[in-house]
Amino acid sequence: MRRLSVLGSTGSIGKQTLEVVRNAPADFTVEALTCGSDTDTLFEQIIEFRPKVCSVMDEKKAKELSDRLKSSDINIDVLMGTEGNITCATLDSCDTVVGAIVGFAGLVPVYNAVLSGKDIALANKETLVAGGDIIMPLIREKGVMMLPIDSEHSAIWQCLKGEARSDLDRILITASGGPFRGKTRDELEKVSVADALHHPTWNMGGKITIDSATMMNKGLEIIEAHHLYGIECDRIDVVVHPQSVIHSMIRLKDGSVLAQMGKPSMILPIEVALYYPKRGPSIVKEFDPFDAAVSNLTFEPCDTEVFRLVKLAYEAGKRGGLFPTVMNAANESAVRAYLAGKIGFLGIEKTVFDTVEKMDPSISGMELTIDSICQTDKDARIYADELIEGIIRE
Ligand code: NDP
Ligand code: MG
Repeated sequence: MRRLSVLGSTGSIGKQTLEVVRNAPADFTVEALTCGSDTDTLFEQIIEFRPKVCSVMDEKKAKELSDRLKSSDINIDVLMGTEGNITCATLDSCDTVVGAIVGFAGLVPVYNAVLSGKDIALANKETLVAGGDIIMPLIREKGVMMLPIDSEHSAIWQCLKGEARSDLDRILITASGGPFRGKTRDELEKVSVADALHHPTWNMGGKITIDSATMMNKGLEIIEAHHLYGIECDRIDVVVHPQSVIHSMIRLKDGSVLAQMGKPSMILPIEVALYYPKRGPSIVKEFDPFDAAVSNLTFEPCDTEVFRLVKLAYEAGKRGGLFPTVMNAANESAVRAYLAGKIGFLGIEKTVFDTVEKMDPSISGMELTIDSICQTDKDARIYADELIEGIIRE
């Protein structure tokens, strides 16, 4: 039985994690739940799963939830802010923390969870992009497990089972190509937020859906795979596979290629992580190779001249240090501004490139610690926000 703390339980991954729990109550307990501000959903989850404690990032919303729970005679501590997330991530009664917060906000709670000896089931890729160089050594030092939830990384993990790491030649990470596959730069100038939010194969939270449209999601995933599997970024290839049936592949030294397949659903990777090292009683519908949606699989290269953030991510991953932190922070600021209708689609890319270029001299050679990562994240957001203001004025 795993005793879970689900960080970001009201989001897409958080809800699907609780769906897995709902269908196998004998296999899991829910010790803690957290959210940003969606206290209506959190309230319902508390009623159903009865965690010991919960936390809300937004203080006003946390107080409102606490009053609502009291008037419903439900006795549970409502914590708030980053400290609340950390408390939930380090609870004595929990053994596994599900990292399902979106963005850099997930890093500090996950870092503290590892410090306190918890296994981590991780969806929140930004944690590894910004902090992989300190999280992964800490995982090894503490002897805890890093259980990947991101579908590509789950696929790679499953393919690697039983293979010697020294036999791994390349990772072929698949990408759907997003809603703008095949578009030109001129066409990208004009795409709307609604178009960008309309992903062809996956139903996900807003930020990752925009990352899929810019292909930054793949860039972040290259760096995530580099940290998880200890492989250099230039031994990771992006393979655009619009059907999203093969979730990734590995090529071994003898030329053998192993792939993991399934319909696009995050339930299976969540189950694979939470039942590890066993296999669970899955709630995913059986795979039918004759289903029209999963036959006729196609593959094409990624056009990094159109989707330039992929190229930048390779560069940032190879340079390491605080470069990926800056790239990630600028991307988060730019995606937020894009979703708010403040900048155009290609303004995301411009903001990220310019922030990385501007901050390059100040971060080169800087020591990597949790504090320097957090400070650099803040600085990069300030700079990116200034750039965004400039773009708005233009
Ligand atoms: P969502 O936006 O759907 O959910 C994010 C969750 O994080 C919500 O519970 C949200 O609370 C909470 N949250 C947001 N900001 C904060 C904050 N500052 N502090 C604390 N909690 C916060 O995102 P997804 O579930 O789509 O994605 C979560 C992570 O998983 C991302 O890193 C994403 O890249 C990754 N991932 C997602 C996949 C998917 O299919 N969705 C697939 C693979 C990876 P509230 O609801 O109150 O806003
Ligand atoms: Mg993914």
